Amino acid sequence: MTEPFSSLAVLRPATRLVHAGGSRTRFGETAEALFLTSGFVYESAEEAEATFRGEISRYQYSRFGNPTVAMLEERLAAIEGAEACRVTASGMAAVHAALVCGLQAGDRVVAARALFGSCHWIISALLPRFGIATEFVDGADIASWRAALAHPAALVLLETPSNPMLEVIDLSAVASLAHDAGAKVIVDNVFATPLLQRPLEWGADIVVYSCTKHIDGQGRVLGGAVLGARKWVEEVLQPYLRNTGPALSPFNAWLLLKGLETLSLRVEAGCRNAAKLADFLAERPEIAQVWYPARADHPQAALARAQMSDGGTIVTFSLKGGKGAAFAFMNGLRLIRISNNLGDAKSLVTHPATTTHSRLGAEERARLGIGDGAVRLSVGIEDAADLQDDLTRGLAAIAA
Ligand SMILES: *Cc1c(COP(=O)(O)O)cnc(C)c1O
Repeated sequence: MTEPFSSLAVLRPATRLVHAGGSRTRFGETAEALFLTSGFVYESAEEAEATFRGEISRYQYSRFGNPTVAMLEERLAAIEGAEACRVTASGMAAVHAALVCGLQAGDRVVAARALFGSCHWIISALLPRFGIATEFVDGADIASWRAALAHPAALVLLETPSNPMLEVIDLSAVASLAHDAGAKVIVDNVFATPLLQRPLEWGADIVVYSCTKHIDGQGRVLGGAVLGARKWVEEVLQPYLRNTGPALSPFNAWLLLKGLETLSLRVEAGCRNAAKLADFLAERPEIAQVWYPARADHPQAALARAQMSDGGTIVTFSLKGGKGAAFAFMNGLRLIRISNNLGDAKSLVTHPATTTHSRLGAEERARLGIGDGAVRLSVGIEDAADLQDDLTRGLAAIAA
């Protein structure tokens, strides 16, 4: 085992997605080997003793580490430009571990208000139960960050672009305020993917992913990843993961490795389609507003252009007719299916106000700008003309 596929120093992202972290066994297999094993055997009682004493570094148990899982971690770290990575059984396990592993009672966490539903729950409901003070800010408003970070804090959590309104947050401005307050910055980079935005280069300390989204991108498995400095990963995150057990199955790690091989092709195709569909929707009379980070009319267009290399695969828009129009539109689609997942090869549509963001309540939704007419479209890799025909079909169903 562990003959590296290639030396990575000079490889570009699309090549790293295919080769980084690959380790061949002595059988010389082409595809990454799947080590579907929970445990590992020792040659002697002495070897087991030395391993548990930390004198020998080797695989012991798949809750601590596994060769297939390690290949995924190395590949993700190489793409992100991070020193180290650990993967988890879901995106939420990654966010939860990244937040909780270093916190203690009395600490303070500041988060952008526009967060994925379960992340919002961890900040608003879970952490306060353990004596951790939490505060939400309006992520696009630097003055609001400045006020919250005028007091010491341990962590900052934000998502950019956010779900579902695609609000863009100034990473370097927030990172600098956070660091002055003594806080590490965690960025949930799911919507941008590791290809379109590199938060570590803008000052973030920790990046988290739901690998369920674009990294698998084919609707098969859940997974999560946490990336950051080696010292923090090994000394703070790893003991938490090892002892609490949100380990990723080696089988799912293997599927995610195969997902990464086509990530750049899928993200490029999704971005190209999303840009076309956003422009198409913006011209339609049924639509009140379109949000897409690469469009000139996005509220933070200049920031999005500076921070991201493309607009991403998600387009959000609001229908003039509110919930009734949104439901008629969605029910009128034939190719694009209704699902709360995103980042898939298949285009998917959801109505955030009644599904992913229903539990926030009307007041919080209003504060986040999630109207009853808002629809989130996750754009897949189909032919853009077929997607446009389907959107036309959905829009026609509103009038009917
Ligand atoms: C999906 C998602 C998560 C949670 O990931 P799971 O894999 O579903 O647990 C967290 N953050 C964002 C932005 C997401 O889209």
